[in-house]
Amino acid sequence: MCHVELKKFCCWFSLPLLLLAGCSEDPPDPEYTVFPDNEYFFSYAPNDMAANDSVSANLTHGVKLSVHPNASYELSFKKDPTVSEIPILQLFHLYLNEDSTAYYGKKIRTLEPKEINGRYVYNFICEERDNAEWATSLSVETSFYRGRTDSVRFIGSGAYSDHFSLNLVVVGKHTLTSDSVDVEGIAQKTLEAFRKYYTSVHIDTIYIRYADKHPTLGKKYPANEPWLAGKSSEDMFLYELGGWPEDGVREALDIVYVYRIEREMTIGYASLFSGNLGGGAFSTVLVGNYVMSSEGARSERLLSSGEIVETILHETGHFFGLRHTTSTMNDFAVSLDASIIEDGIEDTPYCEELLRRRLLKEPVASAPRRPFMPAVGYDRTIWEASDYEVISNCPDVRNFMFPASLDDYFEGFSDQQLDLIRRNLMLFPH
Ligand SMILES: [Zn+2]
Repeated sequence: MCHVELKKFCCWFSLPLLLLAGCSEDPPDPEYTVFPDNEYFFSYAPNDMAANDSVSANLTHGVKLSVHPNASYELSFKKDPTVSEIPILQLFHLYLNEDSTAYYGKKIRTLEPKEINGRYVYNFICEERDNAEWATSLSVETSFYRGRTDSVRFIGSGAYSDHFSLNLVVVGKHTLTSDSVDVEGIAQKTLEAFRKYYTSVHIDTIYIRYADKHPTLGKKYPANEPWLAGKSSEDMFLYELGGWPEDGVREALDIVYVYRIEREMTIGYASLFSGNLGGGAFSTVLVGNYVMSSEGARSERLLSSGEIVETILHETGHFFGLRHTTSTMNDFAVSLDASIIEDGIEDTPYCEELLRRRLLKEPVASAPRRPFMPAVGYDRTIWEASDYEVISNCPDVRNFMFPASLDDYFEGFSDQQLDLIRRNLMLFPH
């Protein structure tokens, strides 16, 4: 938790009907507190370059910031030249109530800006022990700031190393891939691919973990049963298998390898900017051995080792905060922000034609909106043969973060994507 001297404790709720409970009767705060009053908190992750107009529009009344222990942050936005008053940034640590339906906020910072190149800039260090979510408000004395807060930027610099290891967590029954590769082969190819494409960071090694051998949870995951993620258990991501408790290596990227994901045409799944290498919520990325076809549960296709490894690379990109180079309809449904049509990274092009034709149109996730971070699905076969020409002509089709795949088409990540991966890895405690 952040060091805080709290003179006042107040709370607010994210459910529309439960807005703003009263403050406690603690001694009065010498400085006035302006609590966020938004019903819905848009989330903002450090180093996200996307447009995020909804964050800009809501910064004054409350957006959520993802923060990590010991990291330094800079939050900034364009100064509104029509307003002379200087906005004070107040930051609040968010706590969830027991059934995860409401937030409580404690004020932890009151910051004045520096003015640099026409922008208001606020710097702070996160002194939390764990990953946390903070909320914002901008005020002038006792009222909300009235100026515009355009082009918000949130830059984070972390304190951790640029090395990490991989855990391939094998859950339930698997078969050889369509090109006859077994689990050990998938692990080897995954390690080679990470070292080839994640060139801005260092991969120490890969461990293979069999879920049925888990020291405390093994019985839940029998080796001979096909695991259907999203059906076999309530937690599709199997977060409880993250942070493997053996070998003294808990802080690794946990890649959960299941029989298949119980969503049509979905090979892999990850949460955008998961930010957790140590087990628990948001600690895993998910990949299948088979993919369910568009005809539903009775029809499936065996995947190749190449498809599986590419998917792991793609999902891991999301884990480290990379968005799709071109947003899908599902991405819009999750972010609720129509300004995020692409990732905002300068050296990754995006595909206007794909957006225009709304080819990537099926929302696959009924993602929990609050309080959790958005889930991002990876559809690989959402295009019909007739769409092939449009997709193959997209300028970003060869980037790993393109939202669909053509066989053997990937070239890798861009330099700026690789830089973002490294910066965000160093934010995540490990
Ligand atoms: Zn994706």
